Amino acid sequence: MKLTICWLYGDTMNIYGDRGNVLALAQRCRWRGIEAEITTLGVGEELDPDAYDIFFWGGGQDREQIPVSSDILGPKGETLKALLEDGAPMLSVCGGYQLLGKHYHPYGEEQLPGLGFFDAWSEAGPERFIGNVVVDSGRFGTLVGFENHSGLTFLGPTAEALGRIRVGRGNNGQDGTEGCIRLNTLGCYLHGALLPKNPAVTDFLIKAAIKRRYGVEELEPLEDDLEVIAHQQAIKRAVATG
Ligand code: GLN
Repeated sequence: MKLTICWLYGDTMNIYGDRGNVLALAQRCRWRGIEAEITTLGVGEELDPDAYDIFFWGGGQDREQIPVSSDILGPKGETLKALLEDGAPMLSVCGGYQLLGKHYHPYGEEQLPGLGFFDAWSEAGPERFIGNVVVDSGRFGTLVGFENHSGLTFLGPTAEALGRIRVGRGNNGQDGTEGCIRLNTLGCYLHGALLPKNPAVTDFLIKAAIKRRYGVEELEPLEDDLEVIAHQQAIKRAVATG
């Protein structure tokens, strides 16, 4: 089997270690004998709906989100939205997560339209949320990462939060939620990178991709001793630094 990972805007939206997410996806495929290819898709490049199996959209500064917001509107965004509605797996982090909602309004700037895949919207304030984050997620257990954002994300009535904040600020520092999940698409504020220290999320994305492309239901487990140690150490450090 082969899976192709589409790194959306990897050339312009790639901060705080987000590259580690595509490396983790590819490596956890290869350890299972699944061929993995990473392809970056930038502004102005066409999205072939049949070419990709897993999508990753990382973080970016406000100025980098402006051209991307224009690029994701129109046919490219409609193609991506249809793929996600069809169950294509995707991880989006911070700036990418914000643009999967209805809009992102940078502080003191013009509002940027989003894809409207998540029933959510983001408004930036004058404060930046920076620090370690621990999340209790019903679907994935404990998640750990690092946040750095001024955007506050608010979930609408049909949105499902990825989890509840235990350490850090999360979506907006007010309602105790972090991230959003819909079908096989996750959005969150967890940089770090997220996936190397949270293998359950990586395997969720890979499992959804092999089922959708090949009809294969089962994903062979891996020896995750090192990942578990990294996960636990990161949680310990986050709790200690509060
Ligand atoms: N520019 C957005 C914000 O400040 C996203 C930041 C990010 O991707 N880390 O909220």
